[in-house]
Amino acid sequence: MKADARRALPAVGALLELEGVRRLLERAPRGLVAEVVRSVVDDARRAGVPAPDDDARWLEAIEARLAQRQLPSLRRVINATGVVLHTNLGRAPLAPAALEAMRTVASGFSNLEYDVAAGARGSRHTHCAALLAELTGAEDALVVNNCAAALVLALNTLSDGREAVISRGELVEIGGSFRVPDIMAKSGATLVEVGTTNRTHADDYRRALSPRTGAIVSVHRSNFAQEGFVASVPVRELVPIAAEGGVPLLHDFGSGLLVDLAPWGLTGEPTARDAVRAGASLVLMSGDKLLGGPQAGVIVGRAALVAALRRNPLARALRVDKLTLAALEATLALSRDPARAVSGIPALALLTAGVGALEERARRLAEALAARGVRGRVVPSEATVGGGAFPTARLPSAALALDVEAPDRADARLRAARVPVIGRIVEGRLLLDLRGVLPETDDELAALVAEALS
Ligand SMILES: *Cc1c(COP(=O)(O)O)cnc(C)c1O
Repeated sequence: MKADARRALPAVGALLELEGVRRLLERAPRGLVAEVVRSVVDDARRAGVPAPDDDARWLEAIEARLAQRQLPSLRRVINATGVVLHTNLGRAPLAPAALEAMRTVASGFSNLEYDVAAGARGSRHTHCAALLAELTGAEDALVVNNCAAALVLALNTLSDGREAVISRGELVEIGGSFRVPDIMAKSGATLVEVGTTNRTHADDYRRALSPRTGAIVSVHRSNFAQEGFVASVPVRELVPIAAEGGVPLLHDFGSGLLVDLAPWGLTGEPTARDAVRAGASLVLMSGDKLLGGPQAGVIVGRAALVAALRRNPLARALRVDKLTLAALEATLALSRDPARAVSGIPALALLTAGVGALEERARRLAEALAARGVRGRVVPSEATVGGGAFPTARLPSAALALDVEAPDRADARLRAARVPVIGRIVEGRLLLDLRGVLPETDDELAALVAEALS
């Protein structure tokens, strides 16, 4: 059997001569097509099955394998998880204005480091600084690669070889690969832990101050909340203690919320302006969480300290590119007006959408799917903000609970779609939560689910 099958296999060279395969050379280099043909033949040999003798089926197998090989690794997915700022799914989607700014700047040359008025070299650090100062009330600002980089740069500049005082309750892990103590240690500062896991008092900080102290660090508990017998010292009470010690106070603020979302029902998360007003010397945050922009680390605060950070050679290693600056500047410009921010910045639009609108979209999705033989029920759901912000907030949402026999298998089929659909399984039900789905992809979502499950 096996020997027969092997003998029946066509030669790689012969397959490459097929009319259909030759046409593939128009969209793929010859080396890749040859490799794909070889691997398809190898698989047929290994499987030991009688090889198909008709060319059409070989061509089909070769085309499918080539398409798979040409898929980009980094792809778009549909976020039906109910976690809006999902770190694994790329956090904030960018505003159309941000995409346009990136295109404009990237498709030609730019004044990235050129002072057009002076006709001389300029600094990339000028680009978002004034806008950030305006939006947060800080004296000056600096943009680096992400918030982790911001913390490393700030500590390395202000506390290298010296002690950085931090509460044991704030030695936290955020988003898997970000552990505050590990990041701090890499900056060259020696950690001095004060207080206990659940309680830290003002006196704990005071007692830790010494001539060796380089900075006091306060980390926003952005992805968890402590309840019960707990005490911590808010930033505004750390300000006089840092002043007594003559050291800067660094506030790792995380979320980067620029717009007060209380009018839209999201309360409890301070804005960057609130954080600056509380009085820390430097406030650090992410660009791609509630700020709704590209991955970036935003540092705002005292002008003299920001200038010192800029002079640190590490700032060169942690600097952002023109694409990031373009997208960030456009996002910041939208943030000047809360109403425009909430409608124009996708992350904020998703977070503030009314639950009635989500229910209506879920109903329409259910109808579109029913027409294609896929059944589901609209159910109330609870979404979360994600991205280390509003850790305890549960956003009312609407989901489609798919009527499938094996949720795990259906979930895998959805993830294997042309555009992967990422849902979540709750108590044995496969849910597609509309809170994180961009409304303009609703029709596409229906088509993808129908293709995958019917
Ligand atoms: C998210 C977060 C970070 C890490 O931010 P990146 O931009 O992902 O590096 C650091 N600190 C806090 C408080 C955060 O919430």
